[in-house]
Amino acid sequence: MEKLDIMSMTLPEIEAALVGIGEKKFRAKQIFQWLHVKRVFDFDKMTDISVQLRLRLNEIFCINGLFVQKRLESSIDNTVKYLYRLSDGNFVETVLMEYSYGHSICVSTQVGCKMGCRFCASAIAGYVRDLTPSEILMQIYETEKDAGVKVSGIVLMGIGEPLDNFDNVMRLLELLSDKNGTDMSLRHVSLSTCGIVPRIYELAEKKLQLTLCISLHSADNDRRSEIMPVNRTYNITELLEACRHYISATGRRITFEYAVIDGVNSSDKDADRLSDLLRGINCHVNLIPVNKVKERNYSTARTGVADFAKRLGKRGINATVRRTLGSDIEAACGQLRRDAAEQRQKTGEV
Ligand code: SAH
Repeated sequence: MEKLDIMSMTLPEIEAALVGIGEKKFRAKQIFQWLHVKRVFDFDKMTDISVQLRLRLNEIFCINGLFVQKRLESSIDNTVKYLYRLSDGNFVETVLMEYSYGHSICVSTQVGCKMGCRFCASAIAGYVRDLTPSEILMQIYETEKDAGVKVSGIVLMGIGEPLDNFDNVMRLLELLSDKNGTDMSLRHVSLSTCGIVPRIYELAEKKLQLTLCISLHSADNDRRSEIMPVNRTYNITELLEACRHYISATGRRITFEYAVIDGVNSSDKDADRLSDLLRGINCHVNLIPVNKVKERNYSTARTGVADFAKRLGKRGINATVRRTLGSDIEAACGQLRRDAAEQRQKTGEV
């Protein structure tokens, strides 16, 4: 029988599994706290559990660990980028960022991505598989352990499309916010999507307190379809309708992300179109200078983002410019994984 991935299991599920083997239900809470509060990932070290039960736990469950393959520390701003190796030899990236108010972590939700956004390094390396809830969660736990910090914010903005791995991401959120475990308020979690419209409606039903971020990057349908193929399936009108529904169902403001790319979406006309599109919507715009990806020729002029923000501001749209962190350590997401995967292919290493 295949062992159960205990870090992906909710407390009631662990309870049911233990009751199923004739154990007391309360043991599950003890184990859950060892895993999620004390962060002990070895049943043999759970000292208040009998040796006999520890043996049984080792037979039934596995604890899926991640291994630090590479750690890059920025000498500019303390950003740390991790390349984690998963138990099957695949790689994902995680970024730890330091802000004045604490640490924030950017985690991956898939090995690669199917969405094919033109400017994104994750798309170039291609999609392999979804991450399990435990593989997403362990990026947080391992990074906290390695860096010796407690993160105060989590952004689902690493490699992958979170809404294309919907069930596992929902389970991750349930695990993170469990009062018996990490007990993280979802107000400190942001989820970023390229705009998978049916999943936005599904997420709205759950009425979570998280911040939904929409990668918009253009207010023009043709242009958006060129740089984000998902727009050919769910166009801007449908996307904005879903956003309006989300805001009214959850009472939460949405963040629109917009990477300003020279010659693609950075003109005054683009800014005006964006402000027309977002007028009257309870939202915030996050402008991002585009990260260089070596296969693409995209760039942002030094003053491009600030000028764009000013233009939006004049037309009554609230926009902030996202601070660039870790610019000296291959900041653009997906680049480390792509390089590691290429290397693995060359050497035939598994
Ligand atoms: N798939 C999700 C989350 C992962 S990407 C999404 O599309 O939102 C996280 C954010 O980084 C998205 O806003 C994405 O559009 C943006 N992004 C990707 N490549 C980028 C690049 N080269 N420069 C700037 N932003 C980029």
